[in-house]
Amino acid sequence: MAVKKKIAKKSAPKKDNKKIGTNKKTIKKVAKKVTTKKVVKSKTPINTQKTLEASLIELIKNTSAILPDDVQKVILEALHREEKNTTAEYAMNIIKANIDLAKKKSQPLCQDTGTVLFYVSHPQNFDQNKFTTLIQKAVVKSTELGFLRQNSVDSLTGENSGMNVGPGHPSIHYHQHNKKTVEVKLMLKGGGCENVGAQYSLPFTALDAGRDLNGVRKVILDAVHKAQGKGCGPGVLGICIGGDRGAGYIESKEQLLRRLDDTNEVKELALLEKEIVETSNKLGIGPMGFGGKTTLLGCKISALNRLPASFFVSISYMCWAYRRQGIELAANNQIKKWLY
Ligand code: SF4
Repeated sequence: MAVKKKIAKKSAPKKDNKKIGTNKKTIKKVAKKVTTKKVVKSKTPINTQKTLEASLIELIKNTSAILPDDVQKVILEALHREEKNTTAEYAMNIIKANIDLAKKKSQPLCQDTGTVLFYVSHPQNFDQNKFTTLIQKAVVKSTELGFLRQNSVDSLTGENSGMNVGPGHPSIHYHQHNKKTVEVKLMLKGGGCENVGAQYSLPFTALDAGRDLNGVRKVILDAVHKAQGKGCGPGVLGICIGGDRGAGYIESKEQLLRRLDDTNEVKELALLEKEIVETSNKLGIGPMGFGGKTTLLGCKISALNRLPASFFVSISYMCWAYRRQGIELAANNQIKKWLY
């Protein structure tokens, strides 16, 4: 409505009024007519594309600088859990100060922009190619504005494009849903934590891990133990049981889109998620590997069908700089709602 009123103000030009006289009532009527017409006009591809670009840049800026509430809440809980005057408490305090400062200054939370991952849910008849082009434009603009560090490198030449755009980057995943609206989620996943992700093929004899949930539990805890403080912990695990190697890793990352305070609908997976967090936090690895009570902030698990011959467990590790945010777009491409 506010947009309509603004357009109405702008779109009641004097020359139109002159044509039909200066009677106030008549002018109002005409203004109303012009308003309706102008709103339709404002949906021309150029305007909505510009609005979409602005909405995507806003999404990138906020994701880069502000951790979502559910993440901030578990980080604060972890800080209060650590014993006073320990290195673990010191590390958690630095993390908290970093979060507060980035939010206050609206600046990137970490110098490592990470992989830029978009997840777009859209209705039928949606132009993915056009949307991809606009996402790329928004990423370039956001890099120029300093919301994203220049972080995308040609794997063969080592050359940095300086724009965060190149083959496979940003990574964009499309999903058709039954709603009429478009939802865009964004995750910035750091390189340090990506490096400690792991994939196991069960049975895994070194750990005596068989093809069951107990075997799954053993390999997950092994990955946590091996990561130690290297993934900028305390971290969050996204896990997929099953699938092929590629689908398993994709699904494990998508688990990181879940809110930390949700509950898995599959009872045995809900129990396993809880058990993994509790057991990991007794390993004594702690924030940044300095020891302490918080090694993991959360764990999210799902399962995909697999071949009888394969049993993969894919583990994606997210660092404390758990940058994810999402928006629902209005019909005019303005941000209608923030999703986290
Ligand atoms: S892993 Fe996370 S916290 Fe560590 S440098 Fe990368 S983005 Fe920053």
